[in-house]
Amino acid sequence: MSGYKTARAVKVRGLCMGGGFPVTVQTMWKDRLDSASPEVVSRIEGLKSLGCDILRFAVPDEAAAETLGALAGMTDMPLVADIHFDHRLAMRCMDFPIAKIRINPGNIGARWKVEEVVSKARDKGIPLRIGVNAGSLPAGLRDDADLARALLQAASDEIGILEDLGFSDILVSMKASDPAVTVRANRAFAERFDYPLHLGVTEAGPLIAGVARSAIAMADLIRDGIGATIRVSLSDTMENEVIAAREILGAIGQRREGITLVSCPRCGRHSFDTHAFTARWQSRLYSMGKTATIAVMGCAVNGPGEASHADLGITGAGDWVVLFRHGEIIRKVKPEDADTVFEEELAKL
Ligand code: SF4
Repeated sequence: MSGYKTARAVKVRGLCMGGGFPVTVQTMWKDRLDSASPEVVSRIEGLKSLGCDILRFAVPDEAAAETLGALAGMTDMPLVADIHFDHRLAMRCMDFPIAKIRINPGNIGARWKVEEVVSKARDKGIPLRIGVNAGSLPAGLRDDADLARALLQAASDEIGILEDLGFSDILVSMKASDPAVTVRANRAFAERFDYPLHLGVTEAGPLIAGVARSAIAMADLIRDGIGATIRVSLSDTMENEVIAAREILGAIGQRREGITLVSCPRCGRHSFDTHAFTARWQSRLYSMGKTATIAVMGCAVNGPGEASHADLGITGAGDWVVLFRHGEIIRKVKPEDADTVFEEELAKL
């Protein structure tokens, strides 16, 4: 027996989190939201096609609340309002079809303000996410030598405020930049509470470092059955955060749908530039909405054999480029025709 509680299900607009439902992927809008324009909606659609299930926006002021509210009526992507301190912003956001509010009741101030937020959230069926970060712990916990213990205590205190008001439509995150601390805090939480957890390593870093640190923490926790939703926080694009999250879930067997892209690292035997080809095709493959394994290999000597499981593969073969399916060669073309022929075969999958 693991000792970890099974998370209860919490509904976030049409999505169920916890309760044994698949782990969802989310990211956060990286800039100030100045307008609810068709361009913003189009980018959200792009994120959705890459596998983003839920999208969070900072709401620092009234203008941002109005814009996010307008945007929520223009897309079926569940949108989350991220609010600090000012309960009026949470109240205004809940006038719109917002999926979830991230706010810490301990930061709101007077109890009547917390009561107002909780009452409206209950009436509207909007869950609240408590987000505890190692960098912004309450004063009394900042000096705790055990950071994981401090994160758990901070989350527990916030939960207590909501539970005292009879509110339990709660999700929780406890994030540190150290993966080991994040894992310890979330494991300790799951031993004690059954609220669904939003997993993340905060300020994880640039692309490579951030993906590595996030993957280490998330793989440990998700294999333990802990975590309802994940965000890979990168100093990089939202699109890469979504792709990284999706790859982490895929690598630990949690998300089977979509494209699995296999590509060789290239070596002195290559006659096909796998780096350039994957750079050209990666986004398109990830957003095409098909489930298949695609292999991009550098040479015919080892390529088709090494990728014999691929539903479609492409590899160099001397002066030619060959396409293969499950290790069997199906077409042989000149390099300049490679992309066109690859596209034709992709359409047949
Ligand atoms: S597929 Fe060919 S080019 Fe790529 S790593 Fe293997 S041997 Fe090298």
